[in-house]
Amino acid sequence: MTLEQVQAPSKEELEALNERLAAATPQEILQWVVDVHGEQLILACSFGGISGMALLDMAVKIKPDIAIFYLDTDFLFPETYNLRDQAATRYNVQPLAFRSRLTPEQQATQYGDKLWERDPDACCAVRKVEPNKRALEGRTAWIAGLRRDQASTRRNVEPVAWDAKFGLYKVSPLAYWDEKQVWKYIFANDVPYNPLHDEGYPSIGCMYCTRAAGQGEDMRAGRWNGQNKVECGLHK
Ligand code: SF4
Repeated sequence: MTLEQVQAPSKEELEALNERLAAATPQEILQWVVDVHGEQLILACSFGGISGMALLDMAVKIKPDIAIFYLDTDFLFPETYNLRDQAATRYNVQPLAFRSRLTPEQQATQYGDKLWERDPDACCAVRKVEPNKRALEGRTAWIAGLRRDQASTRRNVEPVAWDAKFGLYKVSPLAYWDEKQVWKYIFANDVPYNPLHDEGYPSIGCMYCTRAAGQGEDMRAGRWNGQNKVECGLHK
């Protein structure tokens, strides 16, 4: 599919597609999206979650030169940058970094100190949503690690969606997998993962907005602690 051809599918087209892919494995969904979108495809991998790492491993086995990007908010954990480097060597890939147009200092000057505490939506808009938009320019589909079991906001995730926010297809090959299945894949394939998971962080984002989650908490409970927020604005 080329950029000129990409347009929002009808509700019926999407439903039919998802019905066809409902019983497909994540690898089969990846193969499908590679076949249809080829060079216009890009994989999002934050190096902060196990879904992204499993998808990276699967995708590179299907398309070794697949384009990969991550959002470098300038506030990522050192463990996340280390994992990026480890993965780049292991898979012989060069993940593209997309950063905010504002340095942390410029953000503080423009919006005031600690924007993430006062208005995390505004901070995510500057450091995640706008760079994500640039990352997807010229693409017809992106692959994300969304799963239904991750949060109440993700319970209806389908393998293929039209992403109206960014104007392209969004493919979530792990939509129907649960955390256990992802870990099983990670261990079975010796996939590198962020060591913070072993310290009680189920979901890892920016340093300022991530904490370890307690037993029985939602998997994204450790994000934006104390704020009424579980999504950064990329997936809603
Ligand atoms: S996760 Fe926190 S620090 Fe990172 S961009 Fe969003 S509000 Fe800012």
